[in-house]
Parts: sequence; structure tokens; C-alpha cells
Amino acid sequence: MTIKRVIILGATGSIGLNSFDVIKNLGSSFQIVGAACHANVDELLRLAEEFQVPNLAVSSKRVDNGRITFSGPNAIQSLIMETEADIVINGIAGSPGLMPSVWSLQRGFDLALANKETIVMAGPLIRSLAARTGAQILPVDSEHSAIFQLLRREKPDEIEKVVITASGGPFRNTPLSEFPALTLEDALQHPTWDMGSKITIDSATMGNKGLEVIEAHHLFDLDTEQIQVLIHPQSCVHSLIKTVEGSYYAQISHPDMRIPIQNALTYPRLAASPFGDLDLADTDLSFQHPDPQRFPLLQSAFQAIRYGGAYPLAYNAANEVAVKAFQELKIRFVDIAAVVDATLQKDWSVTFTDFSHILETHSRVWTQAETEVLQYMEHN
Ligand code: MG
Repeated sequence: MTIKRVIILGATGSIGLNSFDVIKNLGSSFQIVGAACHANVDELLRLAEEFQVPNLAVSSKRVDNGRITFSGPNAIQSLIMETEADIVINGIAGSPGLMPSVWSLQRGFDLALANKETIVMAGPLIRSLAARTGAQILPVDSEHSAIFQLLRREKPDEIEKVVITASGGPFRNTPLSEFPALTLEDALQHPTWDMGSKITIDSATMGNKGLEVIEAHHLFDLDTEQIQVLIHPQSCVHSLIKTVEGSYYAQISHPDMRIPIQNALTYPRLAASPFGDLDLADTDLSFQHPDPQRFPLLQSAFQAIRYGGAYPLAYNAANEVAVKAFQELKIRFVDIAAVVDATLQKDWSVTFTDFSHILETHSRVWTQAETEVLQYMEHN
């Protein structure tokens, strides 16, 4: 039996913890050879003890503990460069997840990718890097995992479009007149998924779905006409594809991130699991079109794809800045979309040549979006 060696990045976050659970289920054919976290050293040490993980990295600070192999700003790069592995699970949140994806692919390791920013910021360069080193990109985002599983069973020229489902977040039925007064606390109430704070806010604005539309565009070579978003509050249908003769095919389970994580790890096979069991007789599946007035960020994402160049990257960076300002109570909920829109009005029509060019553009957008935040702070 061949053993797959796994590195888990973002080990103490929600994707990371679910990954440990999945590997416990998969048993001895998987071995965790490395794990990295940002700051939660105690939790990392607990996991390392339970799963006998030899190489550990902490990225936020220097740690003086013999058990931690690498610490400080270069810790994740060192972990990836100096550990022999077969697959890396990237569960790092936000744009800091990009370079760890790059290093993993450079090493030829398959990439189980939960960090959507990797694809949103650098899709074409990431895909050509993977093609060069022979590494696979295996989406872990639940919608893209569903689409990936559905597409590989169909002939490409028989696909008409994909339908990405969205929970609609906590505000899908909130009267528009109440939007200006929505608070941080309101935005953190997610109906179905238990996730980090940034992604929960992104779910309330549907900015998360915007990022996922961009991710699907890059991952599956789809233009904007081939991507539809439907609100599906039960979150059981993870996404659908529509074939040319008019049929829909769906991936359906109880929402549980452990299924997409496991499917990435066992690719190209499926393995038994106790996760996500659903009695269809207990479900009442419904779908609705997202209201563009309620979710302007979703429309901006489609626009960013049409503009091309660095606009998708700008969409992501501006949203990161705006959500951070909202979390710090500097701007209102409705200002998040306004900051992104204002940032996208600038000229971001560049073609990327390498990853350092991407990082440099990301920080230029970041600075621009911070200027836009100041405008909205003055309004409040
Ligand atoms: Mg998702």
C-alpha cells in the first residue's frame, strides 16, 4: 500500500481541523508529515501529538520550543521546501495563502486548495505552473469540489454551464431599507456553515460568491455566460452543471467540509466516509435568483472577469481591505461593496508576468482601497 504524505497549512483553522478529522477517517494510507499554523501554538502542539506530525511551522512569530521545526516569517516556505510530501492542503485564509500554493506547486506537490485567493489572484500563472511541474490542483471549496467531480464525468463539449449555489447568508430576506443599519454582529450570524469571521462576512455580502465565480472562471475555463449563481438556503446542493441537451446534474449531501477535503485527498478515487449523510426525504430544496440590488458585490465580480487583467485581483484586495475596515467598525456593512466598486473604477488593466508582479499589484490595490475607506469613514 502506498502512503500519501500530507502537509496541512492553516492547521488550526476550520479547514485544517476538518482535514485532521478526514485523515483519521482515511486511516493508515495517509500520513501527516507537516503542519503549519499562524499563531495558535498550543493547538498545533496538541494536534502534532495526536497525529505524530514530525514537522511543524508557526508563521506569526519566533517560537522557542524544540518541537516547532520552523517559526517566523519564512516558516511556511521552509516547511514546504524541506519536507517530502505528496499533497498540500492549503487552508490559509486570504491573500497570504497565495505564495504557499506557489511553493507547493513548484515542489510538484498536488494542491488541495481551500484558499480561493490563490486562483482569484493568480489563476492563469498558477495553472501553468502546475502544468509545468505535473502537480494537480484539487479544489476544496465545496462548490468547486462539486463542479470538479461533476465535470470529470462529462465530456467538455457537452457542458452548457455551471450553477454555483449560495446560501444567501443571513440577509437574503432582510428588507433593503434595513441594510444601512446592519451591524458586525448581524453579519456574523451564518445560517448553515460555521466558518471564520472574514468568510462569514463575505457570505453576508455575497462577496464570497463573487470570489467563487472568479475562481470557477479560472479553474474550469468558463466565461461569464457559462456561470450562473443561484441562492439555495439549505446548502445541500453544492453546485450543478447543465449539459447541452438541457439536463441538470447536482452534487448533494448534508453540508460538511470534510467531504470536499476527503475527495481532494483520495482523488481520483472516492472513499467511504461517515460525513455528510443526508436523508433526501427530510429535505426541502429551494432555489432563487440573487437580487442584484441586495448583493452588488456579486455583480462586480462578473464585471471584474469581463474587464480581465488585474481586475479580479483588485476585486479581492479591495474586498479584503473593506471587510477589515468593517470588522474594525470603521465603515458600515453597505460601504463594503461601495469601497470595492470605487476601487474597481481605477485602471487595473495589466497583464501579469510573474508572482512578484502579482504581489506588487496586490499591495497597490490595497493602498488604493484604504484611500477609498477613508472617504466612507468621513461619511459616517
Ligand atoms: Mg464555498
